[in-house]
Amino acid sequence: MVLETDVLIVGAGAAGLMAARAASAAGASVVIVDKSIIGRGGATIMAQMTTAVALGAAEPDSTELHAEDTWIGSRDLGDRAIIDVICARGPEVIREVEGYGANWARTPDGAYSQVFAPGHSRKRCVYVDVLRTGDAVSQALRSVVRRDGNVVRLSNVMLTKLAKEGDRVTGALGFAIEALEPVGISAKTTIVATGGLTFLYARNSASSNMTGDGFLLAAEAGATLRDMEMVQFFPIAHLYPPLVQLDPIMWDPFRYKLGGRLLNGKGEEFLGESGDASGAYTTPRDTATYKIFQEVEEGRGSPHGGAYLDFRMVPAEDLKAGFGPVIDILARQGIDLTRDMVEVAPMAHFMLGGIAVDVAMQTGVDGLLACGEAIGGMHGANRLSGNAITEALVTGRIAGETAVTRRDVARAPIDAALAREWAELQAFWHPRAVARDEAPIDELKARLQRTMWENAGPLRTGEKLAQALTDVRALAAESADIALAPVEAFALTLQEKVELRIMLAVAESIVLPAIERRESRGAHVRLDFPEQDAVAVARFLTRSGDGWSVTSRETTAVTA
Ligand SMILES: Cc1cc2nc3c(=O)[nH]c(=O)nc-3n(C[C@H](O)[C@H](O)[C@H](O)COP(=O)(O)OP(=O)(O)OC[C@H]3O[C@@H](n4cnc5c(N)ncnc54)[C@H](O)[C@@H]3O)c2cc1C
Repeated sequence: MVLETDVLIVGAGAAGLMAARAASAAGASVVIVDKSIIGRGGATIMAQMTTAVALGAAEPDSTELHAEDTWIGSRDLGDRAIIDVICARGPEVIREVEGYGANWARTPDGAYSQVFAPGHSRKRCVYVDVLRTGDAVSQALRSVVRRDGNVVRLSNVMLTKLAKEGDRVTGALGFAIEALEPVGISAKTTIVATGGLTFLYARNSASSNMTGDGFLLAAEAGATLRDMEMVQFFPIAHLYPPLVQLDPIMWDPFRYKLGGRLLNGKGEEFLGESGDASGAYTTPRDTATYKIFQEVEEGRGSPHGGAYLDFRMVPAEDLKAGFGPVIDILARQGIDLTRDMVEVAPMAHFMLGGIAVDVAMQTGVDGLLACGEAIGGMHGANRLSGNAITEALVTGRIAGETAVTRRDVARAPIDAALAREWAELQAFWHPRAVARDEAPIDELKARLQRTMWENAGPLRTGEKLAQALTDVRALAAESADIALAPVEAFALTLQEKVELRIMLAVAESIVLPAIERRESRGAHVRLDFPEQDAVAVARFLTRSGDGWSVTSRETTAVTA
C-alpha cells in the first residue's frame, strides 16, 4: 500500500489527533496512522483527571504563572521557550476540544471547575471526570477527525522507519499488522506523535504499545533527543491488595478531591502533609517517590515495600460521594476504605524527555516535526500533574499548523525505499527458515523490563546503571538473530520483535545519560550522588549506526 499526502502523522493519541485536526482545518490532506486502533491506543485514553490550564475560573491565575510553576517544577531543566508557548496556548485548546464535545466539568454557576494539584500555585486543573478525562478528550477528537474528509485514518499499521531523500524526511515506511503487507506514505511533512516509553519498565502504568518507537524513528532520521534519562515515577500507584478492573494509578484524583494520608509502615505521616482535602496534598511526584523509597530502605515501609494510603478519617458518606461507583468495585474486592488502608508504591508513568524541538515543533531535520509526550523540553526533570494532556493538545495543534506552512514542498516517491524496508524487515524477522518461533519475544521484553526497573528505575547508582547497560546489550545480542515462523496475517509476533529492537535501543538512550548525570535532580535519583548540582545541564543524544552519542548544554531560565 502506497499513499501520498501533505501531512503524515504517526500516532493517534491526543497530540496526533489534534495535529490532524489543525492541519486539515487549514486545508491540508492528512494521513494519520496508529499501530493500535485510531484514538484507542497509548496513554491518552487512559489519562484520568487533571488538565492544567490557566483559565482563572477558580481563582486569579495567568499563563505566565503557569509557566513559572512549570519551570520551577522542572528543576531548572525544562526548555523555557517551550514551557512558555505550551502554557500560553493552554486555554485556547481547552476551549477547542470543548467545541468537539469534551465536556469539562463546571461549577453550579457555570464556571469551569478547577482543582489544585501539587506544584501548581493555583487551582488550575480542569477535568471532565475523575477517572475518564483522557477518554473523553480522545472521544471528542476521534469523532471530529472521523467526520473530516481531509483525513485518512489507518489503524493497526506499525511504522518502522522514516523515509529520507538526502537530508529531508519524505514520509514513513512500515507494515499493516492484520494483513501483513508493506505500507509506505509519501508526505511533505511527517509528524511523530508516538507518545512515551514506560512499557520499558517492569512496574508501569503503560499500555503495551508504549514502547518508545518515535524516539528511535526520529533519532535514526537524524533528530536529537534530550533528557532521555528523565523518566517520571508515579509515587502512589496501587501495590496491595491485588485489584482488578481498576487502574493502578487511580488513587491520585481521589486524594485531590478528598484528601488521604500517606503513612509509613509504623503508621507515621512522613511527607509533612495534613492529608485533608484543603489543598495540603502538596508534595511533587519526584519528592514523594524518593521519600516513599527512603522509608522502605530505612525499614519503615509497608509490608509489601511501599507506603500506606489512608482515607479512614474521611466520613463514610463523603467517601461514597467522592468515589462514586469505585467504592462498590473496591467493596466487591474486600476493601472498605472506612476501615482498611491500601498499600501504594511508585511505578514508571511518563517520559519527561524526548525529541528535541523548537517552539514550532520542528526537530531540526527538514520535513520532520514532533509533538506530545514524544517531545522533550516541557517537563525537564519532573512533571506537574495535568501538564501532559495540555502539552499533547497544544503541541499537536502547533505541529499541525507548522506542517501546513510546508504545503509548497514537493513530495518524493517512496516505492523504492518501501521495497528496501520490506526486504530488511523480512531478513530481520526470518534470518533462517523455522517452523516455530525460536524464542518467545515477550520473555525477552520482560527481562528488559526487569533490569530497567531494578537498575535504571527510581533509585539509581553508577554500579546499577552499568549493570543495566550490560544487560541491555546482552539482550540485544541474544535477540537480534532470533528467527520467527512465517505468518500470513495478524503479524503480532513480528510486531513484537520490531518493538523489542526499539525498546533495547531506547533503553540504552536512557541508561547512557543516566550514567553521565552524576547528581540527583527530580526524577533522576543517584544514591551515589545525592546532591543536585548548582547549574542544570541538559543532555542531548544523537544516533549513528547502532550507537548513541551524548553531549551536554546548560539550560537557561530566560523566556524566549
Ligand atoms: C494511566 C495514565 C494516566 C494519566 N493521567 C494523566 C492525567 O490525569 N493528566 C495528564 O495531564 N496526563 C496524564 N497522563 C499522561 C498523558 O495521558 C499522556 O502524556 C498523553 O496522553 C500523551 O499523548 P500523546 O498523544 O503524546 O501519546 P499517546 O496518547 O500515548 O498516543 C501515542 C500513539 O502512538 C501510537 N504509536 C506508537 N508507536 C507507533 C508506531 N511505531 N507506529 C504507529 N503508531 C505508533 C500508539 O499506538 C499510540 O496510540 C496519564 C498517563 C497514563 C498512562
